[in-house]
Order: sequence, then C-alpha cells, then structure tokens
Amino acid sequence: MYERLQRFLYGRYGTDKLNLALLIVGLLLSLIGSLLFWPVTFLADALYIWALFRTFSRNIPARQREYAAFLRFWSPIEGWLRTRKVRFSQRKQYKYFKCPSCRQELRAPRGRGKIEVTCQKCHNVFRTKT
Ligand SMILES: [Zn+2]
Repeated sequence: MYERLQRFLYGRYGTDKLNLALLIVGLLLSLIGSLLFWPVTFLADALYIWALFRTFSRNIPARQREYAAFLRFWSPIEGWLRTRKVRFSQRKQYKYFKCPSCRQELRAPRGRGKIEVTCQKCHNVFRTKT
C-alpha cells in the first residue's frame, strides 16, 4: 500500500507555502460562506481544488513558476510580520521609533529617560524619551 502511494506520488510536485495559503484562505472563505454569504463557498472549493491540482501536478516547472510569483507577493508581507513579531517580543527591552527627518526605524533600550539619538542613516540628531 505504502509503495503504491509512493509510486503514485513520484514525479509529482507535492506541496509548498502557496498550497498552505490556498488552504488557509479556503478555510476562511468556507467560514464566511457558512456564516454570512453562502456563494463564497464555491470560491473556497475552487481554492481547495487548485491546491489539490498543484500537489499532484506533474508539470513541476509550471508549479515552481507559480510559487516564485507567489513568493514575490508574499515575502515582503512575511518579512513585515516577522519584524512585528520580533518587536512585540522585545517591547519591554526596547522602544522603537522613527527618525523625524528620514523615517528610518530605530530602537533604543528602555528606561534611560530622555536621550539624544543620532540616526544611523542620515545622522540627524534628535531627542526622545525611552
Ligand atoms: Zn534619519
């Protein structure tokens, strides 16, 4: 049984973050469909079918191109989310603020009172409270 499954999956694309995203968006749409607006469930089903199709597809280069296009869109969002997460976990140790002249994001250890900050990017000097 396991060998037959392996043979079936051989040469097929498998799964990636795009498929995961399709399933998550599909689940959200299913939820919206069941609570608010039922025609949305068709869209959810279409996403599930697309994810299945991608998993078992033998056209690997085409799937990789889709994935690359997806990553161009998703990577900046993921980077932004990761920064938020780091900031949130460090919120007690560091205060985050923007340089008033160039908008560069900066951070300083908390609990130092009023400090003078020199921006690393534009060398603007300003005061802030930590
Ligand atoms: Zn600056």
